[in-house]
Amino acid sequence: MRIVHVRGGVRLNGRKRRAERGRITSLPIPAYLNVPLKQHIGAPAEPVVRVGEHVLKGQLLGRPPGPMSAPVHAPTSGRVIAIGAAPAPHPSGLDTPTITVQSDGEEQWIELAPPIDPLALDAAAIEERIADAGVVGLGGAAFPAAVKLRLRTRHPIHTLIVNGAECEPYLTCDDRLMQERAEEIIDGVRIMLRALEQDRSGPSIRALIAIENNKGDALAALKKAASAHPGIATIAVPTRYPMGSEKHLIRAVTGKEVPARALAPEIGVLVHNVGTAFAIHRALRFGKPLISRIVTLSGGAVASPQNFEVLIGTPVSALLRAAGGLRQPPARLLMGGPMMGAMLPHAEVPIVKGTSGILALTSAEIAARPAAPCIRCGTCVAVCPCGLVPVEMVSQIRGGRLEGALRFGLLDCVGCGTCAYSCPSRIPLLQYLNFAKGELTARERTKHKAEEARRLAERRRLRLAQQAEARAATATARPRQQHRHPEGSEATGAPDRTTNPQVAA
Ligand code: SF4
Ligand code: SF4
Repeated sequence: MRIVHVRGGVRLNGRKRRAERGRITSLPIPAYLNVPLKQHIGAPAEPVVRVGEHVLKGQLLGRPPGPMSAPVHAPTSGRVIAIGAAPAPHPSGLDTPTITVQSDGEEQWIELAPPIDPLALDAAAIEERIADAGVVGLGGAAFPAAVKLRLRTRHPIHTLIVNGAECEPYLTCDDRLMQERAEEIIDGVRIMLRALEQDRSGPSIRALIAIENNKGDALAALKKAASAHPGIATIAVPTRYPMGSEKHLIRAVTGKEVPARALAPEIGVLVHNVGTAFAIHRALRFGKPLISRIVTLSGGAVASPQNFEVLIGTPVSALLRAAGGLRQPPARLLMGGPMMGAMLPHAEVPIVKGTSGILALTSAEIAARPAAPCIRCGTCVAVCPCGLVPVEMVSQIRGGRLEGALRFGLLDCVGCGTCAYSCPSRIPLLQYLNFAKGELTARERTKHKAEEARRLAERRRLRLAQQAEARAATATARPRQQHRHPEGSEATGAPDRTTNPQVAA
């Protein structure tokens, strides 16, 4: 299959060696687990347990309030010791609604449904089970997986791309998963295909597992596992950041361009991460909810970088301890990769469903240098994979002209950070871009709130006017009725049988 050239991007120093060698290890169960109620795109889950209640592993802790949300489950058995605010894995360090489970060390599961053949289920049943298991996109976006699959009902899908590109430096969790659990990933892909192909006429949907060409062992493992399934193929894509970005992967693999601000299904393509395929396999074959994931722990400050299978809610500090602690205090603690990851305020935040890695980086690795003035070299423009002009967008943002940045395509920026990484003047372009996007979101929220307040005020005004009108009508009608039936129902409170059709019937 021919790979289409994708504009821009950079070749990065992968720094993957230290963590990629060992097999995935299970992390010991921590003393307590902080399970945030919002670990996904959409509304937070609502607690269904009480403080003091004993819960079993896999038991529902929080249920989604609507379709655009996901449930959360107990990662182990134990006692619910708190339901309230706890630090979020976010640079702000602000609190988020969280359920804390104190482990009893028993790992006692809820009664799981008997194994079924998911390939005999219809699409609705598959999607329902994926939703009930709380499966979200494990590539980082944490979009509810069932909602994404259901997009098939609105857009005819012809290609399912399974994203194994893992282009961020240091991260090797997907690479190890592909090497060690290839059969299970293929099973998850087959289940997704089964759902996507329901009620579909025309040619079958093809599934392409796209893996960067520097992951030879993962490619070989998946190729072997897929060999018995004619509709599923593996494809090697160039090792070039940001190949794992959904839009760029689609362009490389299919040659199709997702229009700015459109969704991939609108051009007939659905993209799911390899970790999501694995979680779907577990949920459908064994009825197990998403309560753990593979996390890469790496960075120069980590004594023994490796990949762990970690229970959701495990504090980052427990992960650091399990890897032999730190060789030196980190200059920066990150959740995710160094290009798009989020800085962590401290190590007491929990691992969540979207956590692909924890990096403890030294000052030498982050090579922080003060920004110098822009030299108008145009490098940021040349490397931007979205064809944008970052230098102009940032100039508009610095001048307080967000509308100007919008005109330069701010909303088409995928936040990959390639421009900032390549800038010889070390201008923190990505920080400016993210700041501007945050401002726009806040403005939208304020606008939405103001519109909502206006709408409610208008509704109230109308209601009061209707009530006043009704009162006035009653006041005018009363003397007339009393005149018509001087001894009748108005005076006694009994219904007027001559004029009320419901009573008359
Ligand atoms: S962060 Fe945005 S502007 Fe910068 S290279 Fe990536 S897509 Fe382009
Ligand atoms: S790469 Fe940096 S120095 Fe060069 S034009 Fe862009 S912002 Fe200016």
